[in-house]
Amino acid sequence: MKSVIDEKNSVPVVSESDVLVIGGGLAGVAAAVSAARQGKKATLIEKSIVLGGLATLGHVCIYLPICDGLGRKIYGGMAEEFLHLSIKYSYNNLPDERWTMGVKRIDNPKGRYRTTFNIPAYILALDELTQKEGVHVVFDTVFSKPIMDGDLCRGAIVENKSGRTAYLAKMVIDATGDADVFYRAGAPCEEQKSIVSSWAYEIDLESAKEGIESGDILKTMNLRWFGLRPDADNSKSTIPTFLGTDAEEVNSYIKLSRSLMLDFLKKNQRPGYAMFSLPFMPQYRMTRRILGKKELQLNVGHIEDSVGCICHSLETPAAVHEFPYDAIIDSKLKNILAAGRMVSAGGYAWELMRLIPACVFTGQVAGTAAAVAIDSGCSVQEVELGKLREKLASTGVMIHMDEDMLGGRSEKKFNEKPMEVGIGGTKVDSLSYH
Ligand SMILES: Cc1cc2nc3c(=O)[nH]c(=O)nc-3n(C[C@H](O)[C@H](O)[C@H](O)COP(=O)(O)OP(=O)(O)OC[C@H]3O[C@@H](n4cnc5c(N)ncnc54)[C@H](O)[C@@H]3O)c2cc1C
Repeated sequence: MKSVIDEKNSVPVVSESDVLVIGGGLAGVAAAVSAARQGKKATLIEKSIVLGGLATLGHVCIYLPICDGLGRKIYGGMAEEFLHLSIKYSYNNLPDERWTMGVKRIDNPKGRYRTTFNIPAYILALDELTQKEGVHVVFDTVFSKPIMDGDLCRGAIVENKSGRTAYLAKMVIDATGDADVFYRAGAPCEEQKSIVSSWAYEIDLESAKEGIESGDILKTMNLRWFGLRPDADNSKSTIPTFLGTDAEEVNSYIKLSRSLMLDFLKKNQRPGYAMFSLPFMPQYRMTRRILGKKELQLNVGHIEDSVGCICHSLETPAAVHEFPYDAIIDSKLKNILAAGRMVSAGGYAWELMRLIPACVFTGQVAGTAAAVAIDSGCSVQEVELGKLREKLASTGVMIHMDEDMLGGRSEKKFNEKPMEVGIGGTKVDSLSYH
């Protein structure tokens, strides 16, 4: 490829923090807030103008279950807090369930402990939370490259309306969803192509009437799915798959998904119908992840370095697994941690770790671990797990699974039954070029 030499200008330093988080999706917010709650000065860089990432900009308005489908809470801590935050200022369709037996079980006769949230209300609640916790959020700012000093990351060069500036920090958390920081710092990563899918909101007079008659505001809005479904056999589809880490491919993804929507509008435009919101972030599921110090292994029972329990929110019942701290760090890089859908988990484990409760969980682990490392004056590889676990457990994170969760549980993969999508009264339309 033809190349030019980038100019070697000095770059002004605008801020020095304890913890610098790149990416303001739910994982990044959890990371920044948990670091701030440990008394650390936390800065969060976000390229868009809202927090939430795929959950808000990408229209993924379903906070999947924090329970295992057998009546037990698996995700406590911030994953549970963020579920309640998602419905703090809007409709609440959490099942009417009572948590019983302390924090670990729920009386769960009707369904899974999950909810659908209103995107604008969640955006505003995330703003309020970060402000209250003293996180310095920097919107409209794109991470450009890490400032490396051997295996140490001194901060990041960013681009925004002020030009090219530097944000320095003791610890850096990569919550970009695409492992941009790790990749540009030279860490080994794995990439994967994604199917095209795009969710748009629509409203029509018929569903509005249904909403009024039933008194259920959720019924007035429909979510429409364009593109391919991950649970379907897409082998005969002529819709290509795309990399989320190549600018041209990202552009092709965006243009194709919007052309599917336009095709639909051309055929379905009518009085009393309106499409009212399109996704403002390409809906890539898995793009690039780190090949960390340790890969997450499923179904291996208790692990010594567990920092919390996880389960696939779409399995019913869901097998429970323990998550190793080393899956959010690299073997060499001394002060960079991963949070969200880019942690070290391959195959089906990647499918599990990209779901919202898991992303918030790893965000909390990363933010807390960064604070522990600063307090101990050590690298991320040297974090004392006892201290980290103590802090996580004090917020409700279940570090190890109970003995009766260990064996004899069928692991139903989510693609054995149709994936649940949408909101109450949803019209899900799987358009494709089959
Ligand atoms: C179509 C689809 C359906 C899904 N359905 C569900 C579901 O029903 N329930 C569920 O729980 N999960 C679902 N998921 C998964 C889930 O929504 C995401 O995996 C999760 O929200 C990811 O969170 P994150 O914080 O790790 O990453 P992201 O949400 O991707 O956040 C990354 C953030 O980093 C920012 N960023 C990226 N690069 C830069 C940069 N260079 N500089 C500055 N900022 C940057 C982005 O703007 C973004 O805000 C779905 C995903 C998709 C795509």
